[in-house]
Amino acid sequence: MTDTILVLNAGSSSIKFKVFALGGSVRLQRVITGQIEGIGVAPRLRAHGADGAALIDQAWPATEVAETQAALRRVVDFLRAQLGGRLPVAVGHRVVHGGTRYSEPTVLTEAVVRDLEPLIPLAPLHLPSNLAPIRVLLAMQPQILQVACFDTAFHRGHPELADRYALPESLYDEGVRRYGFHGLSYDYITSRLPDVAPALAIGKVIIAHLGSGASLCAVKGGRSIESTMGFTALDGLPMGTRPGQLDAGVVLYLLKQKGMSADEIEHLFYHDCGLKGLSGISNDVRVLIESTEPAAKLALDYFVYRIALLAGSLAAAMNGVDGIVFTAGIGENAPTIREAVIKRMGWLGFEIDAKANRGGGPQISSARSPHVAYVIPTDEELMIARYTSDALGEGARKRA
Ligand code: ADP
Repeated sequence: MTDTILVLNAGSSSIKFKVFALGGSVRLQRVITGQIEGIGVAPRLRAHGADGAALIDQAWPATEVAETQAALRRVVDFLRAQLGGRLPVAVGHRVVHGGTRYSEPTVLTEAVVRDLEPLIPLAPLHLPSNLAPIRVLLAMQPQILQVACFDTAFHRGHPELADRYALPESLYDEGVRRYGFHGLSYDYITSRLPDVAPALAIGKVIIAHLGSGASLCAVKGGRSIESTMGFTALDGLPMGTRPGQLDAGVVLYLLKQKGMSADEIEHLFYHDCGLKGLSGISNDVRVLIESTEPAAKLALDYFVYRIALLAGSLAAAMNGVDGIVFTAGIGENAPTIREAVIKRMGWLGFEIDAKANRGGGPQISSARSPHVAYVIPTDEELMIARYTSDALGEGARKRA
């Protein structure tokens, strides 16, 4: 068995993982994909191999896998058995927030973890879950190289104007900034542009990451210069269950007039708004497309309207636009949404090739369209594996 890299994406009740083999004919070959979900509630570990065949589907009583450490142990035991007794040589972690300091993938040590802990108030729902397996592995398997890959890192080069809210300087200084997220997805798509759409690799492109979380990124000459997400992943586009851009006065109204607690508002904004709140039917675009209810149509129309509206503002940030790339669950799989967005962007110089769009692209703009449109599937885990493999290589060079 060749050496492998494990990529972990740890959430509050689940750990998603992928294993990549190093050093075959393909630089990083995905060999195992899985997740343990329902941690502490109804734990269940499922995984499949590169051919899609199931490798495990096992459930435990809640008390046996009550927290991250126990869940990770199950994953490690499973992987050890699958990999002929050999653990991965390195682990890459998706970490939602790197604050102002971390603009590059970073080798994890106890000191780096201590440095990241003060960022928890900036991402209270995600960062504790991201850090938990890192701490466990540092204690359990200290010999394994661990690398943190940050969702904010790709945006750290934003011009100062794009990094700010019009708030007092003291708040900026303590970290209330427009960080932007989905950076690993944008980084990956940008890395694909030279092959798929060479003109865009050196041009001005809007990347639309439309999944259950959704945002747009303005990439100019391969670098992020603006994004629709800001201080948290609530800003910008409406999403499956999050509202997107919102007048801060709404928060004051909910607090003062409705007497809602901060926790209740947080729950509302993360779980009951967006497409779900607008439609009253579902957060899933597939369900809304199938539905004949007017509220489902309203939710989808609103989604498309806001994408086109904010795409216009990103074009303004770049002083023009050469192309748009759609990615993630909705961006890759919903031709009707792509078509509606491109039609609304007609004024900017986009024209759809309806047949190519229904076929999934990659190019979905017509031959006479002044600007180009593409569909490119994202792969955040592969991006993490690449960075982790780079860190392994650097470590080997340093030791040599
Ligand atoms: P995440 O990784 O953030 O959970 P994904 O990028 O997987 O999200 O996107 C999930 C969303 O993609 C689903 O909520 C669903 O709305 C949408 N989606 C997936 N497949 C389709 C499809 N065939 N048509 C329309 N929407 C789809």
